[in-house]
Amino acid sequence: MKDISVIGVGYVGLVTGACFADLGNRVVAVDIDAGRIAGLQQGQLPIYEPGLKEVVARNVAAGRLSFTTSYTSSLQNADFAFIAVATPASVDGDADLQYVQAASESIARNMVRPLIVVNKSTVPVGTGDWVAEIIRANQPRPIPFSVVSCPEFLREGSAILDFMNPARVVLGSLEEGPAHQVAELHLALRAPIMITDLRTAEMIKYASNAFLATKISFINEIANICEALGADVKEVARGMGYDPRIGAHFLEAGLGYGGSCFPKDVAALAFMAADKGRHPALLQAVMDINADRRQELVDQVSALVGDLHGRVVGLLGLSFKPNTDDMREAPSLELARLLTEAGARLRAYDPVAMPRAAELLPDVEMAETPYTLAEGADALVVCTEWNEFKQLDLERIRGAMRQPVVVDGRNLYEPADMLRLGFRYRGIGRGYGRDSHPGVPAAAHEAAP
Ligand code: NAD
Repeated sequence: MKDISVIGVGYVGLVTGACFADLGNRVVAVDIDAGRIAGLQQGQLPIYEPGLKEVVARNVAAGRLSFTTSYTSSLQNADFAFIAVATPASVDGDADLQYVQAASESIARNMVRPLIVVNKSTVPVGTGDWVAEIIRANQPRPIPFSVVSCPEFLREGSAILDFMNPARVVLGSLEEGPAHQVAELHLALRAPIMITDLRTAEMIKYASNAFLATKISFINEIANICEALGADVKEVARGMGYDPRIGAHFLEAGLGYGGSCFPKDVAALAFMAADKGRHPALLQAVMDINADRRQELVDQVSALVGDLHGRVVGLLGLSFKPNTDDMREAPSLELARLLTEAGARLRAYDPVAMPRAAELLPDVEMAETPYTLAEGADALVVCTEWNEFKQLDLERIRGAMRQPVVVDGRNLYEPADMLRLGFRYRGIGRGYGRDSHPGVPAAAHEAAP
């Protein structure tokens, strides 16, 4: 059992704290957001993450997990302090490190015993050295400490599973001892543990996210070409994915990537490269392709509905991906903006993200169910591939709509099924419908209005 301070109780910090407590450690999590801490002290979670409420409740009850706004309390007995504060994009694409700086200063002022500071936030290469400098400069009296980078790879929506079963644990440090101590904390996870230097560990996180984003933009580019040539990108991805050199994951064509990580991390890596005089041409293309996705989808809606002025468009799903309420950089936000600009009236439905989304989309009417969303709608746009959308009563949906138009930004449905049900349907890069004739591109198979 170790004593651990976790700094920040957002998606990463709360999961990290709850999971380390579940492994038998004593965790005191600190956050500057008094509302979040007060809620957690009463058992209310500030975020939606499947299974997290139960893990938090279990460990609070066992006395292994507590929440505070006081750095003094959080650091009093701590052997480790995990920094898990946000690192959003600044206006020029660089990572905004104000929260990391504030957390480092607070650690320096409140630590009372030797400490290993472990950085879980995604931070530009060189930040670990900078954090060490900040702590050194702000300590009222010198107390030994070291900084280890431990980038987080969990995915929202399956965060607990990912934390407990990581594909790898990457640790970066210039000192062997502290890196090994952090490694020991992770031994129970039975994952490969890689120890490298600080800057390399920080880079591994950016390179990993940039690679995944590149896969998404790659398959979206292929989808565009499929659309033009009449091939089916879903089948293309399946055929590619069997090749172990390529892999089947992250080859889903759609609305493009969003969320709190990929957009800012690709932009930050491109910024770091440009800042050092390099020309990150591939990263630029990845971002450009992603940015175009939303407009391309609006064009698909217009192609099926015509002039969008006064038309009612329903957004099926709002969160940036299923099983989360996170709306940061959700593609639905940009899509809503573009559809509104084109004159459409918007409605939306999402199983969990509507409370958060309502603050960001005040002009969008929130529907209680997918069926009320469909009532009198001229088009539905699938923005998020929530499981509950996979088996909707589509006949009921079609019957409720003013025009039976579905633009499927996540390729959730099969074109042939949708056509059979009487929809005018477009997926992303879907080529022919299954019952189509060779040589006739998909657009020719749309059912007549
Ligand atoms: P978040 O916005 O959900 O949570 C950040 C928390 O830090 C908030 O509760 C905020 O109040 C708190 N905070 C801010 N300043 C503080 C301070 N000085 N002291 C104490 N608390 C403070 O952020 P997140 O999504 O958990 O991301 C955290 C980091 O982890 C980011 O760098 C992100 O890139 C990285 N990351 C996120 C994910 C993800 O899926 N969300 C995955 C991997 C890595």
